[in-house]
Amino acid sequence: MAPIAAADIPSLTLLYKLRKLDKAPTTPVAGATPQNNDRVALLRGDITTLAVDAIVNAANNSLLGGGGVDGAIHRAAGRGLLRECRGLHGCDTGRAKITDAYDLPCRKVIHTVGPVYDGLRPERSEAALRGCYHSSLELAVEHGLKTVAFSGISTGIYGYPSLDACQVACDTVKRFMDQNGDKLDKVVFVTFEAKDVRSYDETLPLYFPPDTETSVDQEKAAEDQAAEAKATASKLPDVPTTDPAQIDSDHAQKKQKQDGES
Ligand code: ADP
Repeated sequence: MAPIAAADIPSLTLLYKLRKLDKAPTTPVAGATPQNNDRVALLRGDITTLAVDAIVNAANNSLLGGGGVDGAIHRAAGRGLLRECRGLHGCDTGRAKITDAYDLPCRKVIHTVGPVYDGLRPERSEAALRGCYHSSLELAVEHGLKTVAFSGISTGIYGYPSLDACQVACDTVKRFMDQNGDKLDKVVFVTFEAKDVRSYDETLPLYFPPDTETSVDQEKAAEDQAAEAKATASKLPDVPTTDPAQIDSDHAQKKQKQDGES
């Protein structure tokens, strides 16, 4: 498959414009603004085909390859990747390490180790998953890598519920971009399975709302105001067509007449 350049991966701004992503039906999370929408992107496909600065692998503690996306990355990168990984002596859960990309079209591979989801202690899983996204982005910035594509860390074999993982991913990336957005050109969320496509379609607008959010609200407020003004106007008495001075003089004449008559 031909490599996909970073510039060809649609940003959230473009996806909203093309109506491939819709504003959230509920209020976005506190502090969510459209400011990062040009620098955050979403793509469904095979992460090994992306010609970005770095792809983020959902690795295991050994860093010696495995199933899922890890296997796909090692297969596409070739033996050189495994050789380099052997020298890294593994990686802790929630942390990340970086290697060259060998036969892959990207420049570097960031290997992060997601948590095996622990339903009894979900807060521990969440902290570790946050660590994965945060340390991967830190590594990218440290190495001057400006376009970074994430696979859905822990959402495959490691069993992290898709929607929960997606919220952690969006929140961690949002916070990082709010602080360091100028150091990155594009952060891509790569989805593969339908469940993750749904999760991102639902969650991204809550953390990265469309720019139209304000103008749509403003338009709506203006429409409401106009309707209210019309309703109020219909309840008011008719505007007099006669000049008040004329009414007063007519009234005075009538009064005089009545006085004279009596
Ligand atoms: P983990 O062990 O962290 O759960 P997996 O590799 O099993 O890692 O799954 C992580 C995510 O990667 C899942 O969302 C899975 O659908 C996705 N995935 C699998 N293969 C690819 C691929 N070639 N490109 C992008 N994402 C992939």
